[in-house]
Amino acid sequence: MINFQRGQPKKCVSLLLILAFILPHFFAGVTVSSAAPPEVKVGISLLHSYVELSFDSGYCLINMAEGSPLPLAEGRYRLVAINGNIQVQDRQGNNRGVFSGPLYLKPLSSQPAEQFFQLHNARSGLEYRGTLEIFLEGNSLKAVNILDLESYLRGVLPREISSSWGNYGGMEALKAQAVASRTYTLYYQSRPRHPRFQLCDMKHCQQYGGKSCETENTDRALRETRGEILTYNGVPISAYYHASNGGFTEVPQNVWTGSYPYYDSVADPYDDPNNPLGLSNFVKHRYADWKKDVPLHSVGALLAGSGFKSPGTVEQVDIAAVSPSGRVQELYIRGAGGNTVSLLKEESRNVFDLASLLYTIRSEAEPRVWIASCANGVESKACFPELEGKWALSGHTRKRMLIGETFSVLGEGVKNAVPYASLIFEGHGSGHGVGLSQNGAYNRSRVGQEYKEILSFYYPGTVIETNY
Ligand SMILES: [Zn+2]
Repeated sequence: MINFQRGQPKKCVSLLLILAFILPHFFAGVTVSSAAPPEVKVGISLLHSYVELSFDSGYCLINMAEGSPLPLAEGRYRLVAINGNIQVQDRQGNNRGVFSGPLYLKPLSSQPAEQFFQLHNARSGLEYRGTLEIFLEGNSLKAVNILDLESYLRGVLPREISSSWGNYGGMEALKAQAVASRTYTLYYQSRPRHPRFQLCDMKHCQQYGGKSCETENTDRALRETRGEILTYNGVPISAYYHASNGGFTEVPQNVWTGSYPYYDSVADPYDDPNNPLGLSNFVKHRYADWKKDVPLHSVGALLAGSGFKSPGTVEQVDIAAVSPSGRVQELYIRGAGGNTVSLLKEESRNVFDLASLLYTIRSEAEPRVWIASCANGVESKACFPELEGKWALSGHTRKRMLIGETFSVLGEGVKNAVPYASLIFEGHGSGHGVGLSQNGAYNRSRVGQEYKEILSFYYPGTVIETNY
């Protein structure tokens, strides 16, 4: 067993010998043979500005500046940013060394995929495989998990798709997801989405929970598609995917910018909530039909919160343009003073936090109690939903409307005093609608389609190649 305690020079020497073998490979970056999966760098979202980790004797912590192992035994440590350096503290808070960094937590095993360490303040995981890089960014520490692509995907799939589908006829959907996620990751290897790592571990890139979230079904889906990626003209595609397309796929240029030859906008009967094929085992996504009520008085704040100028009191909201799939391309909002805001493509989904762009909109008076008041000749009104259904009593215990010199109560049925109080969004599907629909893939799998057939529908014109 290798130990890093001070006062044990013999063991440290043996460690250095091992590192002398490992380090050149480690610091040379990607050293993969054609049969090995490539390396992925994943930014781990932390709950704090420090890093709290624990590891056993199978790991060592290395200071990049010196390239030598730190004399630390297995255990739990907190790494904190202090005056532009990284201080390592033990569990009792004692200073165990100050380093310029970056620091690397590195497995000593020749089979690192079988080892894992704990990262105690990660936002969406606890145990992780591979190596951890810890570096300073301002007064915060950042952590990047470096590991092989297949190990990474073991922590992605369960976060991105329901692994239990594998028990209900959905294994081919899990395999389609495995190929899509693998391709998605490879696409961003040469186009990192963050400055010091390829992808983060949140929805922004691809959700990743490390070893903690691995499951049997998703591991199997990865094994049975090992190394397989989608290519177009021999290069990995930008493989978008989402939860449910609501019955119609979409092309990227109607959601973001940039078009690709391997997407199409067509009806998808396997994800249409109306089940047009009359499938007996059809599964309807929980967001197949959705409704969202947005109080009108909050529209200005929602727009401002997303960086748009508030149009003031909203007077008119119109869908100004839709794509052939029915997705809203422009939502037009006009305020009382003539100020207007146009929300294009994904903007309306982001501002109002909607499940998809496949929606219609109407306005409706809120069936809630409003109190309109007037003081010094200035009228105002405020919503008190908690008063709905309550009776107001006068001093003589007679039921009556609150009528005073400065206020009155307007309840349901007096809608003309509050022109329309809510925007009602009603829509179908969840996500952008581009590429693989997970729910559509699930239904296709349940009727016997294989993952290659599923992928050829959602990414037409692509081929599956085995990369390693
Ligand atoms: Zn990201």
